[in-house]
Amino acid sequence: MPEASGPPRPIDPSSTVDKLKVAEWLNSHWRPDMVQRSCTVCGVTKWTIAEDFAYLSTLGSGGAIQIGGRHFPLVILTCSNCGNTLLFNAIVMGLLPKKPEA
Ligand SMILES: [Zn+2]
Repeated sequence: MPEASGPPRPIDPSSTVDKLKVAEWLNSHWRPDMVQRSCTVCGVTKWTIAEDFAYLSTLGSGGAIQIGGRHFPLVILTCSNCGNTLLFNAIVMGLLPKKPEA
């Protein structure tokens, strides 16, 4: 779910990921029967939640990088054993509002 097109939402550079909310969201959405939530690469269950949001931009027509175009704000979850990384949409997780704040 990318944000709507238009000016990108300014993410407060001082804002950080609320790790408690991320852990609660993961506990309610990540099925416990999924091999005990272990890493699909190494099998270890030791995840680290990054403090900062990632910001993934999309490509425009012709594959051009668009500064200020459609984008995905993401939460980064990394396996502390092998580095396998999962990305979750911060808007879907309810960590960021769907529309820019006035
Ligand atoms: Zn791993």
